[in-house]
Amino acid sequence: MSSGEPDGKKDRLEGRFFFSQPHQQVRIGLDPRLPDLVLPSVLEVPFARLAERGIVNYIFDVDNTLLPQFSQKVEDKVVKYLQKAQAEGWIRSACLLSNAMFGSERQLRMERIGKQLGIPDLFAADFWSRKPHPVGFYWALERMNCTPATTAIVGDQIYSDIVGGNRMGLYTILVSPPGPDHWSTGLVMRRLREWLLLRHYGISRPIWREAPEEE
Ligand SMILES: [Mg+2]
Repeated sequence: MSSGEPDGKKDRLEGRFFFSQPHQQVRIGLDPRLPDLVLPSVLEVPFARLAERGIVNYIFDVDNTLLPQFSQKVEDKVVKYLQKAQAEGWIRSACLLSNAMFGSERQLRMERIGKQLGIPDLFAADFWSRKPHPVGFYWALERMNCTPATTAIVGDQIYSDIVGGNRMGLYTILVSPPGPDHWSTGLVMRRLREWLLLRHYGISRPIWREAPEEE
């Protein structure tokens, strides 16, 4: 990524890229738990810039990535942001990959969320296929008919979304959760482990925010 233009917004986005290239070789010797990009929310994923680098296929985590954990409705802002990226050709294909395994309505809720976003392809993992297990990722790549080099995962959890994505050789994007976690996330102290990991590398996780400031 080279740009010397005095474009404030561009520079701010560039600052958040940890690695200069999305190629996986860059990660050799680095911690496989680290994401390529850390953002406050899905509303700030730089789809256009990633498309320039050949990343046009997206696997989205659902809970606390696209909408709060206990919510049923995806915010209009998120829907519009993704639809715009699709219309511009920055997103070629997308699918949903969720670990949510509680509740009898699990599958129905996923389908409702997919409908709101216009993403019919979704994978609701059961206990044995939860991320970072590769089965959902394989399913997604096959479904979207694409390779890891052109694919990114956007998720809020390091130990499922990011670790799983890195194992598959995807470009990994960590976003901050907009709401509280399911009790099971607290039970295994995922957030504490994430916090310790990021702190170890001196990475500060941005707090979730409503939307990027306009220029
Ligand atoms: Mg999540």
